Amino acid sequence: MSLTKDQQLEYISHLVGECKKCDLYKTATNSVPGHGNSNAKIVFIGEAPGAQEDQQGLPFVGNSGKLLDKLLSTISVPRTDVFICNILKHRPPENRDPLPNEIKVCTPYLKAQLKIIKPKIIITLGKFAMNYFFPGESISKIRGQVRKIIWQELPLTIIPVYHPSAGLRNGAMLKSLQEDFLSIGKFIKDN
Ligand code: SF4
Repeated sequence: MSLTKDQQLEYISHLVGECKKCDLYKTATNSVPGHGNSNAKIVFIGEAPGAQEDQQGLPFVGNSGKLLDKLLSTISVPRTDVFICNILKHRPPENRDPLPNEIKVCTPYLKAQLKIIKPKIIITLGKFAMNYFFPGESISKIRGQVRKIIWQELPLTIIPVYHPSAGLRNGAMLKSLQEDFLSIGKFIKDN
């Protein structure tokens, strides 16, 4: 008997919960594998869990998550329709940037999640998620662009935007995020 998509995602979450492939599990309270609809057409990928996420074991539940919820509401996409996760599944101490080796050893979980969900559209939040698909590119140059790629044999549309935490810190970046979400909303309607 084959496993349902929810069961497959639960299995990945279990593996993440047991993972010791880098040191981040040592300082984290909970793993944050990702959460949402296993049949999502749209997946959002951020950088790493923050303090609230680490406490609750859920992605984007702090202030960045509140802003993400607001942005989703502007395009009438309910959070229950999407899947949300991060490049790293445990919180880096003091929210420092992910290290190259942490990204290398952790992203097989993300890859497995995407292969199970098979989304049509991926919205990368911030530079680390953008660089996973487009190494060496700059988020300020390609934010808001609609890029169609074949990734791991999956046809994907990727739209990189700033991380919501950047929007909380900087008014110009918030404006860019709002503009980019309007473009995302239009793209979803037309496709
Ligand atoms: S951050 Fe990723 S690689 Fe590191 S321990 Fe957690 S799940 Fe494993």
